[in-house]
Amino acid sequence: MVRQVVVVGAGVYGAAVADTLTRRGARVTVVDAGAAAGGTSGATFSWLNSCGKQPRAYHDLRVAGMAAHRRLAAEVPAGGWYHDGGNLEWAADHAGAERLRRKVAGVLGYGYEARWLDRAEALRLEPDLAPAELPADGIAWFPAEGWVDPIRLIGHLLSASTGRGAELVDGDAVTDLEVAGGLVRAVRLRSGRRLVADAVVNCAGPQAAGIAALAGLALPMRNTRGVLIYTAPAPVAVSRVVHAPRVHLRPDGGGRLLLHSPDVDDAAYPSETGEFAVDRSAVEAVLDAVRALLPGLRTMPVESIRPGPRTVTVESVRVGERPIPGDGLPVLGRVVELPNFHFAVSHSGATLCLHAGDLVAREVLGEDVDDALAAFRFERLAVDPDHSPKIQ
Ligand SMILES: Cc1cc2nc3c(=O)[nH]c(=O)nc-3n(C[C@H](O)[C@H](O)[C@H](O)COP(=O)(O)OP(=O)(O)OC[C@H]3O[C@@H](n4cnc5c(N)ncnc54)[C@H](O)[C@@H]3O)c2cc1C
Repeated sequence: MVRQVVVVGAGVYGAAVADTLTRRGARVTVVDAGAAAGGTSGATFSWLNSCGKQPRAYHDLRVAGMAAHRRLAAEVPAGGWYHDGGNLEWAADHAGAERLRRKVAGVLGYGYEARWLDRAEALRLEPDLAPAELPADGIAWFPAEGWVDPIRLIGHLLSASTGRGAELVDGDAVTDLEVAGGLVRAVRLRSGRRLVADAVVNCAGPQAAGIAALAGLALPMRNTRGVLIYTAPAPVAVSRVVHAPRVHLRPDGGGRLLLHSPDVDDAAYPSETGEFAVDRSAVEAVLDAVRALLPGLRTMPVESIRPGPRTVTVESVRVGERPIPGDGLPVLGRVVELPNFHFAVSHSGATLCLHAGDLVAREVLGEDVDDALAAFRFERLAVDPDHSPKIQ
């Protein structure tokens, strides 16, 4: 019988897994090499969506993830981490509009909510957008989407778990796993501490392959870096996720905006200190795009990354590492050859964590959730040596 579970990693996945485990009476130790929410979950766009995702099982998992967020937010209405309002998206050219049309048709075919808006309708949702930046029509709105503040979410899940008796060990890395007789028996930490375990859940995000290797398992990962630009409080009202052609944005609390563009991701490089730096001109290009989209930002009279009155202040630029298993799909649940070792590893963890983490935790405690996890088992990667990307 599983009583003592060690969860490796205190990001969105580790926190979600610990929450279900402790709700169901397990004794849990969550171990993080750094601080809770200090990994990818602290540097993420955290848009809740299943917009154009394939295959169908992955789409359905994400839709269930979105529903799990709505349920938890309803259960804890004062939590403040969950934000609905949907997502607006439009294209700049004919080819982009055609891709968007195909995406909308695809998700409608799956029963996912999507609507076409014209410029006036989009401006009723987001009145501070520059009308000239919007097409006359062909603006897609996905009303069931939203975003979460992952740090508040993790804080809630971990404090709920510790309130039920879980121990949070931070600043202490897992350095070894003791495996004997086909099971993991104990987890060794850098401090020298040894944690006896009936089960171990690998929620180490981008470092999940390293934890798997300690158990003798080869987990192929193809992590990528992403750059996020956090503004200072800005004098514009943005209420939801917006995917404009040159910049993606959402509110980030306290009047801040969170900005991203696929183009800025390539501008991150390791600096001499070992930290990641980001090419300034790439950040400027994102700021130019957001200034064009939100005229209220052009006159912000404060110190800025580029001095001058027509600008927006950047509070921080963070580089996050997306934890992406070899074929792009989540790796969830028990390992056949090591049945008390479990994975909860994926990209889009902000969307998936509550639902997928719940399934993984229930399996740890012996519940049969095989139907839900069958498409996401670790073993599929062992039989697909080229690990070719399967998601869109
Ligand atoms: C730029 C960017 C944009 C994104 N946008 C979205 C989005 O819009 N929507 C969405 O759903 N998802 C998005 N994601 C992905 C999502 O953020 C991640 O899937 C999710 O945060 C992963 O959470 P995690 O708990 O698995 O990993 P993490 O948050 O990285 O947590 C893993 C933890 O494990 C710890 N750890 C590692 N090694 C050890 C060890 N040896 N011992 C102990 N602890 C260890 C780390 O310190 C870390 O705290 C984005 C990611 C990035 C980078």
